[in-house]
This record gives sequence, structure tokens and C-alpha cells, in this order.
Amino acid sequence: MKRDSHLVVLLLFVIGCSLASLTVWKVLASRDRALEEVDVHGLNLTQALSTYSEGIVRQSSLLLLGLVERLEIEGSGPAQIQRLSALIIRQESLMPQLSGITIYDNQGRWLMSSNRPIPAGANSSDRAYFIHHRDDPSRETFIGPPIQSRSNQEWVITLSRRFNDARGEFAGVVAVTLGVENFLRLFGKIDVGQEGAIGLSYTDGTLLVRYPFREQDMGRNFSQSPIYAKYLVDRSVGTASFTSSLDGVERLYAFRKSDRLPLITTVALGKREALAAWRTEALLSAVVVTGLLGLTGLIGWFLIVDIRRRTRAEDQLRGTQQQLLSTNRQLELLAMKDALTGLANRRCFDQSLAMEARRARRDGTTLALLMIDIDHFKLFNDSLGHVAGDACLQTVGRILDECVRRPSDLVARYGGEEMAVIMPDTDTDGAAIVAQLIIDRLQQANIPHTASPLGRVSVSIGIATATGSGLDHLQGLIEGADQALYTAKARGRNQYVRGGL
Ligand code: GH3
Ligand code: MG
Ligand code: MG
Repeated sequence: MKRDSHLVVLLLFVIGCSLASLTVWKVLASRDRALEEVDVHGLNLTQALSTYSEGIVRQSSLLLLGLVERLEIEGSGPAQIQRLSALIIRQESLMPQLSGITIYDNQGRWLMSSNRPIPAGANSSDRAYFIHHRDDPSRETFIGPPIQSRSNQEWVITLSRRFNDARGEFAGVVAVTLGVENFLRLFGKIDVGQEGAIGLSYTDGTLLVRYPFREQDMGRNFSQSPIYAKYLVDRSVGTASFTSSLDGVERLYAFRKSDRLPLITTVALGKREALAAWRTEALLSAVVVTGLLGLTGLIGWFLIVDIRRRTRAEDQLRGTQQQLLSTNRQLELLAMKDALTGLANRRCFDQSLAMEARRARRDGTTLALLMIDIDHFKLFNDSLGHVAGDACLQTVGRILDECVRRPSDLVARYGGEEMAVIMPDTDTDGAAIVAQLIIDRLQQANIPHTASPLGRVSVSIGIATATGSGLDHLQGLIEGADQALYTAKARGRNQYVRGGL
């Protein structure tokens, strides 16, 4: 039973551990899956946004290339600029993302502006793109850092190309401005949550556009942020997770460097937000599993309590059973014992005699029986009283017990002051030795009996033995011993007489 409750505890422990570890494993696996999904989603987004941005830059580049061609072939005189202006106005409607096109001469003076009249004395020779083209003979498109328009304060990105005069000298710059607002409008349609962000940067780390828009980030250089400093060094596309040094929010970043243009698109999602659904699911799993574990534990506890209760009941039952058995044994012994002398009683004598007779018959041995009667006991009672008579009977019984030492021998109170000794595997001579020993011991005990001629208690003993078929009639054996006893009485008492069949 104790083993049963240990097994239940072990079973509960195994169930609990399995359930808990399975849940932890499942929750962790689903977290990995959720993060993987965020990465894939982010990479797909960077692909789409990168394609969009590239398209705009390439369209603008092509437009610039056409304008530069014309300026270099036709020159940048007022008539030519007039014609170009008409052409540009026609083309602008085809590219809604264009904020405007401006042409500068080699001093930075405005020659033409597609979206507003030229302010008096307007000069952009201090702009980064102008300085770049003036100092760098490269004919490639230059993507400048975002700047704030001097006329309407709008943030714009400038794409520009240099054009040369007939001698190949620097003649001016054609610049296309793309409104940051256009990018933000598209980026704003993409759900990146409260903590997410979309960014478009130049490969040197200069931020061109960021959604959500933050004035303070415009034109900032992020070349020291982990994406640029760590990941983009040897990869052009990938994902990363780190905590922003600006707002302390941990984000999952997907980044992609354009194949042909020096642009980088970044999509970032707040890790906490991205894992919100997973967290709810994990919490639900934890609650359900905890409930299940609690229920299992409760059932187990009831089971253990029940087992313990049954164990106690069984222990009690076993104890009661033991008590009953020992009471039964005592009762059995009592039923076999004589209350006064403590010797075997008549019932026990009868059973033992029958049993020993069967054994002797089986084994072919001799069974001896002594019948012992106290001499003049009536007179003992009469002179000393029945209480003394009882005490005398007890003493005689004890002495008989001492004289008969073999475990198989049995001393019994046959009735009144008559006692009997059953001695298996004993012939007449052996029985006579025991009878004589009893007589001698009584003499040594010297129990006073004033009414007896000897002045002490003595006994007369009749010996009978039986063997073989003689054992079939036990009554004969008893009568034989009785007969011998009478003879001993008749011969003067305090002696034994051998009888026999
Ligand atoms: P005898 O020598 O011929 O045997 O003389 P006796 O007086 O012993 O004669 P008997 O054997 O007939 O005696 C029986 C007496 O033993 C009767 C009774 O007074 C006494 N007696 C029998 N049973 C008990 C007993 O349980 N207690 C006491 N105190 N006396 C008993
Ligand atoms: Mg008698
Ligand atoms: Mg007697």
C-alpha cells in the first residue's frame, strides 16, 4: 500500500514534468515561429519598398539624364531654358512624386524652377549637391541628404546631375526634388504597429526618410548603429534584433541594400508588439496547463488520501485479526488447561491419548500411561480444609510436571485428585522409573499430611502400557492403569504397580 502511494506520487511527478516540459517546449517553439514570421514579413516588406524607392530614383535619374543631354547639346541660354521648361512641365504630370525640377548655372544661380517663380537673387551654391557636382567631375546621379525647402519648409530629397559646357567645364546642375511626404504617405499605409518604423537611407548611413516622421532624425547619420556597423558590412540583406539607443525599445529589423543604387531599406517592428499574440497564447497555455496540473495534483492527492485511509483500515484490520488469533490461541490453551493446577485438563488428556495412540500404532512403539491418585486425600481435606487441599493439588501437579521432562510426555489432571501421565515410546520399565521418581520426589517434598500414616502426602500409581493392536482400545489401557492403581492402593499405597494388557 505504501508502495502504491509512492507509485501514485511518481506517476503524478512524471505527468507533471512531461506536461510542464511539453508546454515550455511548445511555447518556446511557437515564439521562434512568431519571430521567424516577423522576419519573413519584414524582408518581404523591404523588398517591396526597396523596389518602389528604386523605381522613383531610377525614373528621376532618367529624367535628369535627358535634361543634361539637352542642356549640353543645346546650351543653357534663356531660349533653351524656356523650351526645357515647357518640356518639364509636360513631363511632371507623369511623375507625381516629383516636387520640382531646378536648373542652376555654374555659380549656383537659379536658371529655372518647375514649380515656382525664381526668387530674386536665389542661389544654391551652398547646397551639398551643388558643391558635390562642382568639385567632382563624375556624371553620375547624386542623391543628396534630405533638406528643408527654403520656400515652403517641406522636407525633400534631392537627386542631381552635373552638366558641362562645350569645353567640358562645369556649367551647372540639374536637380530633381522628391517630397519626403510622398514616401511617408506610402510608408504610412503599412502597419508596423506603435513601435515599428520604416526607413530609407543612403549607404553611408544618412537617413533619407523615416516613418513615423521625426524632424530630429532627418539627415542624421546612422553609420554607427548596429545595422550599418555590424550587419551590413558583409551582408546586403538580413534580419537583426537589438535595442534602440534612441528610445530603448527592442526592435526586430529587416534590412535590404539595393543591388544597383546606394540605398538601404529598413523595416523595424517592436519586439514586444510583434510577440503580443504569442504572449497571449503562451499565457493561455500556461493557465490551461496550470489548471490541468492542479486538477491532476488534486486527483492524485485524493487518491493518496484514499490509499492511506485504506492502508490504515487494513492495518487496523490486521491488528484486530492478530488480536483475535492470539485470543483464540489463549482460549484454546485455556480450553485445554486445568484452571487449578495449570496442567492439561481431561479434554486435552483424551485428545492427546488418542493422538499418541495413533502415532504409536503407526510407528510400532509402546505407549505408557500412569494413573496417579493422592493417598487419603479425603482425610487431608477433612483435616486441613479444601483450600489447603487445593494448594496441595497444585504442589503435587508441579512436582509431577518436574518429574516428566520429555517434550512428548503429557501430565494431565484426570479428575478430582487423580492425575495421569501419557508417555509415548515408553515401555513398562521406563514408566516404572518415572513412577518411582514421582514417589521419591514427593517424599523429598515432604508435604505434611497428619491424617496419613506416613505423616506426609504420598501417591499411589498404576502403570499400564499398550502396543500394536492393544492401542485400538484406549479404554482398556485406562482401565488397566486404573486396575493397577487400585492394586497399589490395596497393597498399602505410596507405591506403583505395573498393570498391562
Ligand atoms: P485413597 O487413599 O483411597 O485414595 O483415599 P482418598 O481419601 O484419597 O479417597 P478418594 O481417592 O476416593 O478421595 C477423593 C477425595 O478427594 C474426595 C475429595 O474430598 C477429594 N477431592 C477430589 N477432588 C478435589 C479437589 O478438587 N479439591 C480438593 N480439595 N479435594 C478434592
Ligand atoms: Mg481418588
Ligand atoms: Mg485418593
